[in-house]
Amino acid sequence: MIKAISLFSGGLDSILAVELIRRQKIDVLGLTFTTPFFNDKKAQYAAKLLNLPLIVEDITKPHLKMLKSPRYGYGKNMNPCIDCHTLMLQIAGERMKNEGFDFIITGEVLGQRPMSQNKQSLHIIAKNSGCADYILRPLSAGLLDPIKAERDKIIDRSQLLSIWGRGRKFQIKLAADLGITNYSPPAGGCLLTDPMYTRRLHDLFSHQEDHEIRDLNLLKYGRHFRADNQGKIIVGRNNTDNEKIREFSTDEDIALFMADFPGPYVLIPYGNMALLPLAASLCVRYSDAPSDCEANVIHQHKNSSNIIKAKAAAKEVCEKLVI
Ligand code: SF4
Repeated sequence: MIKAISLFSGGLDSILAVELIRRQKIDVLGLTFTTPFFNDKKAQYAAKLLNLPLIVEDITKPHLKMLKSPRYGYGKNMNPCIDCHTLMLQIAGERMKNEGFDFIITGEVLGQRPMSQNKQSLHIIAKNSGCADYILRPLSAGLLDPIKAERDKIIDRSQLLSIWGRGRKFQIKLAADLGITNYSPPAGGCLLTDPMYTRRLHDLFSHQEDHEIRDLNLLKYGRHFRADNQGKIIVGRNNTDNEKIREFSTDEDIALFMADFPGPYVLIPYGNMALLPLAASLCVRYSDAPSDCEANVIHQHKNSSNIIKAKAAAKEVCEKLVI
């Protein structure tokens, strides 16, 4: 039985790539990845839809290492797409060799993304992955050199497609012809393409050499303020933020919240006491306490709990420090 392993994001292109190969009676296994920057939700949903067996692999460690100095640089934000795809294909290539798959498929479309999916980038990604002759892009295969499986005639190249460019009309029609509905909308899902998240990530990388995974997760929630080199303060904006910030906090951090009014959960990661007055004033600022008088703020560190009095931070202070 011929078997292929598919890089499977759960987006329409990866769904169509799988279906085109399955139509040739080839067994396909989906492979998707997680990091703090993207998750497997979309892939899980689509795999269920297609009845596709799916493996989820956490690649946080190698991805983070690559992210700090990607050989081919970043896209518009901090998305190192060429190096990221290369890494994913390297991992898929290892699995292919170790688990007896015949080739790898991806949903990449030539010309769909100007930087990472032009002909040269696809060539670089394939070459650097170490398994170039085993990577099939079924949606654009007709525009690319045949891989080993095509030359060996274990896949019928004439049934593969020659899609080029950013338009999605062809894919949408093909999905309808194949009876595929309810797929997720394109794009989204990778925080490395999100301007606000990547501004915070850049700030973290430039102020803190060692960081925990939870530091990357905390960047997703609340308002973030940087107090020079003393550290940062995170202020929840709503209940979800407050819950998440609490969830990712540790004993080392200082946590603050209002004693007598509804207000945010505030965190000083790694607990620099010098930031306590500023953090308390931010806590008051985003609470329901009157802005012109002092209010009590509870602060907790390790097992001790105390109260500090603070007035709301001025708007200009917030604007100056916000990341
Ligand atoms: S958008 Fe994100 S997940 Fe996708 S290739 Fe780029 S860096 Fe990787």
